[in-house]
Amino acid sequence: MTELRQDPFTHDWVAIAPGREERPRRTPRPQSADGRPAQRAAADPACPFCPGREESTPPEIWRLPAPAGTAEADWAIRVVPNRYPVLDPGDRPARHHTSGLHTRADGTGSHEVVIESPDHDWDLADGDDTAVADILRAYRTRTRVLREARPGLVLPFRNHGAAAGTSLPHPHSQIVATPIVPLRFRHLFDVARAYYDDTGRCLYVDHTVAELADGRRVLAATEHAAALAPYAARAPYETWIVPQRHQASFADAPDKILEQTAALLRRTLAALRDLLGDVPYNYALISAPNGEEATAYFAWHLQIVPRLTEPAGFELGTGIAVNPVPPEHAAARLRQAIAALPAPALPVPPGPGCHR
Ligand code: UDP
Ligand code: ZN
Repeated sequence: MTELRQDPFTHDWVAIAPGREERPRRTPRPQSADGRPAQRAAADPACPFCPGREESTPPEIWRLPAPAGTAEADWAIRVVPNRYPVLDPGDRPARHHTSGLHTRADGTGSHEVVIESPDHDWDLADGDDTAVADILRAYRTRTRVLREARPGLVLPFRNHGAAAGTSLPHPHSQIVATPIVPLRFRHLFDVARAYYDDTGRCLYVDHTVAELADGRRVLAATEHAAALAPYAARAPYETWIVPQRHQASFADAPDKILEQTAALLRRTLAALRDLLGDVPYNYALISAPNGEEATAYFAWHLQIVPRLTEPAGFELGTGIAVNPVPPEHAAARLRQAIAALPAPALPVPPGPGCHR
């Protein structure tokens, strides 16, 4: 059973989840000296996400069927409940219990695994734009359902590589629905709302427009989306993929924006790999909390954070991240690497005034 505990000093929430200890850890795929995958990993006969072992997951929630004539499996993507969830399944709003200075809440919510391909050795960066768009469509479909179930937050995310917390190498991402809105979101909303009150505009869209005009931190852009290195990137090669129009929740993104986000995501991951080898990374798709989708002052964004540095005592004590790679350098290198990727070219290049 998971318990959510509130830190009495910061009001941050912590999930105390002993069930997570039991999850299996399987070796990541082997790498050669330059950090690239050395060879195709043999399909692991004990992998719970490989085709033929569908019964080893709890009953499937959603699937994208394989195109007709595919031999490997009859599915292309499966969404299943996480067998070792961070939050216990349940739809009720979190009841809070306070005793003295201690506040806790029921750790109920939802934790799903998106099995991205039947191929044990596939990776997002290897895929084509359509396959990545299908994965984003799975996030969108599930988020639309999960956000109706409870107040809180729905978060699709992906861990890649041992240093980024992966416990299983089969290509997958996860979707967690929390029954509380973490403190970080309160802060993001406060900042964005103050900007909106002062200017009548969305901070996130204004930021994207200004960054596209400036260009120094732009990796690539399409008609409706952009890949940018944030001005105050907390990690080397941190990249955000953002819509160019206002939209608070990714679940409301129309196909065109979703597909351009997929194209930029795939190219960013392929460029990272070309530049740095098979680096560990996490990404998280941040949207407004459930019920706040209509807000005019917040926009969804996909944060990709390579795990190339270890936070140490300074970061622990100050909360200040130390990033040894200026985001302008990271953007320039990734921009070049994206431009050097094999065809196809990005779907629609940006034109003047494309952001409104
Ligand atoms: N898992 C599962 N069924 C299994 C084995 C593992 O649902 O039979 C889950 C496990 O709980 C974990 C996820 O698969 O959350 C793999 O996630 P990932 O590698 O991204 O990292 P983790 O969540 O372990 O940090
Ligand atoms: Zn597998």
